[in-house]
Amino acid sequence: MTNRTFTMIKPDAVEDGHIGAILNDINAAGFRIVAMKYTKLSAEQAGKFYEVHQERPFYGELVSFMSSGPIVAAILEKDHAVEDFRKLIGATNPANAEDGTIRKKFARSIGENAVHGSDSNENAAIEGSFFFSALEQF
Ligand code: GDP
Repeated sequence: MTNRTFTMIKPDAVEDGHIGAILNDINAAGFRIVAMKYTKLSAEQAGKFYEVHQERPFYGELVSFMSSGPIVAAILEKDHAVEDFRKLIGATNPANAEDGTIRKKFARSIGENAVHGSDSNENAAIEGSFFFSALEQF
């Protein structure tokens, strides 16, 4: 049942100094790091990554935020990776996220919410390959 998910530590959490604490929570929850990089998206790349949201009212804000500073992108592996990672990060809006979740602990707001987590196995594969070639996955 081992499968993979894709995550980003978003610009707010990087700027607030939470990279180490978030990676620690990810490791403590039993995820294995398959691939990882510290990088920065251009507005064009962020627009492409989030193009499924292009009709949503917050799309412009999301693209501008996600290209505002560096991020950490990673592919993670674990049994039930997608589902378990969504539980670990908590609700989109940190005000509604459960205690102990990454977004509850580290997010600033519904938009600047510290981490991304894929919502399906299919999207995990698409998103992972957006950032990493096969040679960069271990
Ligand atoms: P997720 O799957 O929990 O990340 O949430 P969604 O797929 O619904 O939204 C994608 C991302 O868009 C979220 O993680 C937020 O960064 C951003 N977002 C969602 N809702 C809002 C909103 O109401 N306002 C703003 N500014 N950003 C939002």
